[in-house]
Amino acid sequence: MEEVALALAWLKKPENERSALPLDEDLPGMGQFYCLHCDRYFANVAVRDEHFKTKRHKKRLKTMAGPAPHTQLDADLAAGMGMPDNGPKLMSM
Ligand SMILES: [Zn+2]
Repeated sequence: MEEVALALAWLKKPENERSALPLDEDLPGMGQFYCLHCDRYFANVAVRDEHFKTKRHKKRLKTMAGPAPHTQLDADLAAGMGMPDNGPKLMSM
């Protein structure tokens, strides 16, 4: 269970604080500015953020997200189950 908690803590960090990407001199921006949806590397954060605004990226994002990007909570609510007891905790994540 501890590993799960650690993974969640990592996911909650702002993206620019994550340091999971290995440095690679052969890649633009040392491989630190990556769009995992498009499998592309960028020279710096500004270029990457510009890329995030492009139609091409958004289309890719949609394709990868699939037709039903719902959380389990959404599914429960939609099924008329109401808020689970631990609802507020989930909401604050
Ligand atoms: Zn992209």
